[in-house]
Amino acid sequence: MTTYDNDNIFAKILRGELPAHKVYEDDDILAFLDIFPLSEGHTLVIPKAPSRNLLDIDPDTLCTLMRGVQKVALGVKEALEADGIQIRQYNEAPAGQEVFHTHFHVIPVKEGQRPGPRPSDMAPQEQLAAVAGKIRAALGSGLNT
Ligand code: AMP
Repeated sequence: MTTYDNDNIFAKILRGELPAHKVYEDDDILAFLDIFPLSEGHTLVIPKAPSRNLLDIDPDTLCTLMRGVQKVALGVKEALEADGIQIRQYNEAPAGQEVFHTHFHVIPVKEGQRPGPRPSDMAPQEQLAAVAGKIRAALGSGLNT
């Protein structure tokens, strides 16, 4: 299937049907923590407009999204006192995509560390909440969810 599925997990998060540890939101994008973080502070940035991935996203929406990715990356870097940031993005299942709403991974990396492997269990909610609070503070985001 290569059409957009309105019932994907991130569409449900956008509609408020599923919870998320949000760190940034504006008219065009939403950023929230990955619940299976490859490093502490692993964040996903998504456009509000529907698209599956880089292959079908409207180019102007992509440009707006990338501005958001940079903004969130700076906030994550500061909040986690990271030495570097990995950006990852997958397009279609053979390339590793699991959720079919366009998203960029923002993964903080400390000197001498490598992100991953993916944890087998979801990160504890209180740990995610604490990290999200730090990132929101760094971004000056008024979100309190
Ligand atoms: P991918 O499509 O391969 O780029 O990966 C999707 C990412 O979404 C994975 O890193 C998952 O851990 C993450 N993920 C899946 N469900 C949720 C959720 N409900 N909230 C936050 N992150 C999620």
